[in-house]
Amino acid sequence: MEDDIRWVKTHCARMDHGGCALLVGVKDNKIVSVKGDPDGFLNKGYVCAKGVASPDRLTHPDRLKHPLKRVGKRGEGKWKQISWQEALSETAENLNNIKEKYGAKGVAFGVGMPKGLEHFVLIRLANIFGSPNVIASQDVCHAPREITGVHTCGFYPVANLHNKSKLVLVWASNITSTNEEGEICSMLLEQLRHDTELIVVDPRKIDLVKKAKKWIQLRPGTDHALALGFLNVIIEESLYDKDFVEKWTHGFDDLADHVKKYTPEKVSEITWVPPDIIRDTARLYATSKPAVIQWGNPIEHNIHTFDTTRALICLMALCGNLDIPGGNVHAKDPKIMGLGPFVRADLIPDKRKEMIGAYHGVIPRLMTIAPSFFKKAILEGVPYPVKGFYAMCANPMLSYADSRQTYEAFMNLDFIAVADLFITPTAAMADIVLPVASQFEMDDIGHYGLGHGFILARPKVVDPPEECWPDIKIMNELGKRISPEEYWYDDYNQFLEDVVKPSNLTYRQFTEKGYLKGPDRFKLYEEKGFRTPTGKVELTLSTAEKFNLSPLPTFKGLPEEDDPEYPLVLTTSKSQYYLHSSYRWIKRLREKRPDPKAEIHPDTAIKYGIKEGDEVIIETRYGKITQIAHCTDIVDPRVINASHGWWFPEEKVESLYGWEKSNFNILTSTEKLGKEFGTPNLKAIGCKIQRK
Ligand code: SF4
Repeated sequence: MEDDIRWVKTHCARMDHGGCALLVGVKDNKIVSVKGDPDGFLNKGYVCAKGVASPDRLTHPDRLKHPLKRVGKRGEGKWKQISWQEALSETAENLNNIKEKYGAKGVAFGVGMPKGLEHFVLIRLANIFGSPNVIASQDVCHAPREITGVHTCGFYPVANLHNKSKLVLVWASNITSTNEEGEICSMLLEQLRHDTELIVVDPRKIDLVKKAKKWIQLRPGTDHALALGFLNVIIEESLYDKDFVEKWTHGFDDLADHVKKYTPEKVSEITWVPPDIIRDTARLYATSKPAVIQWGNPIEHNIHTFDTTRALICLMALCGNLDIPGGNVHAKDPKIMGLGPFVRADLIPDKRKEMIGAYHGVIPRLMTIAPSFFKKAILEGVPYPVKGFYAMCANPMLSYADSRQTYEAFMNLDFIAVADLFITPTAAMADIVLPVASQFEMDDIGHYGLGHGFILARPKVVDPPEECWPDIKIMNELGKRISPEEYWYDDYNQFLEDVVKPSNLTYRQFTEKGYLKGPDRFKLYEEKGFRTPTGKVELTLSTAEKFNLSPLPTFKGLPEEDDPEYPLVLTTSKSQYYLHSSYRWIKRLREKRPDPKAEIHPDTAIKYGIKEGDEVIIETRYGKITQIAHCTDIVDPRVINASHGWWFPEEKVESLYGWEKSNFNILTSTEKLGKEFGTPNLKAIGCKIQRK
C-alpha cells in the first residue's frame, strides 16, 4: 500500500560524489522506492539509473554482513567469520606492531571514492596515529587541478553554474553520463535551455555534442597544446580583458612572448584539430562573457596535468572569467568546521616533509600520496618501507595504474585491512575484511571539504543489517585502539555535530534544512588581492624556481612518443551505469551494460577484420586485455576507447573475480610519472588491437 510508505528526504551518495536530493520510500525498514526530489537544490528532481538502483546494494545476497579473517593464503578466498572485537583487536595489533618496528609512517591509510565524512575521519585517524601517508586516487581525480589553482590564482576555480553563463566550455567532462560531482549536469542542461552556448572539447562524440555549437575532437592527451593554441589566438588577436590583465595578472608579457610559438597551425599538427577550428573556438570563448570552463578529471589522466591546468587557468584569467558570476569561481563555504581542526592537522606538523610524496618532490600542498609512490615504497622501500595498509571505499587492484604491480605490492604487505560493502578483488587480498553500512544506513554529511561551497544532509533512512557499521564508527573504534583515546568520541555521531556547530545548528536541525551553502560573493580579489605571492593571478609562476617548476605553461610532448608497433591511441571513459570499478554486481545496472566495451571506429574495425560484438585483444607495451568490440564513429579512426574498472563478481573469488581479463589498468604503467604530482598516463597510450 502506497499509504504505508514513509518518505525520507536525503541525498544520494556512494554511487558518485552524490549531490542529488532524493525522496526515499521506506516500508518495514526496507527501501522500496527512490525518486529525485523536485526541491533538490542541485538536481531539481533528477535521478540517474545508478541512484534508482542504489538500494539494490543493501539487500544484495553477496553483501558482507560480518567481519572476516583470512584463513588461507593471501587472495585464496578462504575466510572465517569473527566478532567485531576480534576484528578491531587484530587490526589494531597488526598496525601497532608495524608502528613499533618501522614507525607510524610504515602504515598507510587508503581511500578511493569517499562520499562523506569518512574521508576526513580517515585522515584524522592517520594523523593521530602519526602516519603522514594517506593514499588516494586524488592524483588522477581533482587534486592536481586544485593545487595548481592554489599556486596560480590562490584557489581552485570551480565552474559556477548556479549563475548564468553566456558560454560553457565543457573540457574533458562527460557530465550527462557521469553527472560529475552529482551537481553540475542538471544546472548545465537548464542553462542550455535558455540560450547559453556550448563548446565541447572531447576526443569522443559524447551526447552533449548534440547540444553544442562547436565540438573539438582532439587527439587524446593533447589538451595542453590545444589550450596553448587558444592562448596564442587570444593574445595575438588582442581579445583578452585588458583591464583585468593589467591590474590583476603577473607575467603577461612573458606569457605573450612564450605562446607565440603555439600557432594554430603548429597546434593542429599535435592535436589533429584544424587551425580554423582552433581560431574560431578561441575567439568564441574570448568574446563571450561570462564564460565558464567546466573541466573533468581526464585533465589529470596523464603526466602533463600541471601544464594543462596552468594553461586553462591562464585562459580563464586572460578573459576576465575568474571569480565572477557564471565564470570559474572560488566557492565560499558556509560556516562549518575547517578541515585542519577536523583532521587534527596540528598533531602532525612535519607531515609535508615526512610523507612519501615529499621524497619524490611533488609540488607542495598535496595532502595525499599518489598510489604509484605508495607502491614504490612497498616494493623498493623508497623512501622508507611501508608494511601495513588500511583501506576503505577503494578497489586499488582495479583503480591504480599498473594492476600487476599493485598485486605484487599487496602480496608484499605484512597486513591489509579493507572495509567495504562487498568482497572486491582488493578485499579478497585482505587479512581482515570489515563490513560497512551504506549511505542510506547512517547519518552523514555530503560534499564537506570538496571546495564546492556547500554541504548536504544525508540522514539515515534504514538500519544497517546484522553487523554492518558506518566507516566512521569503525575508525572511531579503531582509533581508540591505535592512538590516544582522548581524540575519539563515545558516540561517533559527534563528528557530524562538530562540522555544523559553527552554524549554531545541531545535526538534526541541519537535516531539516537539507543543505548549507556559503555566500555568493565574487571578485573578493578586489578587496584582498589573489592569495598568491604577488597578489595577482600568476601567468608566470613567481615560485617556479623555488619548486623547480616551469614558470609558464608549456607543451612538453605527447604523454607517450608515437611508436609504429603500437599505432593506435588508447583512451578510456566511464559508463553512466557504474562508478569506476563498482556496481557490476547490481543486476539492473549490469543488464544495461553487461560487458566491457571497446569503442572502435568502423573503418578501423574493417581494417583489423573486427565485427560488432567480437572479442578484441587490446595490447600496449605493458600488457594485454580482452574487451568486446563496439563499432562506432564516436571515436576517431586512430583512437580506441576502452572501458575502465572491469572485473567479474560472478567469477570465482580465488581468481580474484577475473581481475586481469578486461581490467584497463593492466594496460597502464607507473614507469613514467608526471613530475609535479606523480600522475601516470591513463589515457593517450600507444596500443594495437586484434580479433581474439
Ligand atoms: S547522478 Fe550521482 S548523485 Fe545523482 S542520482 Fe545518480 S549517482 Fe546519485
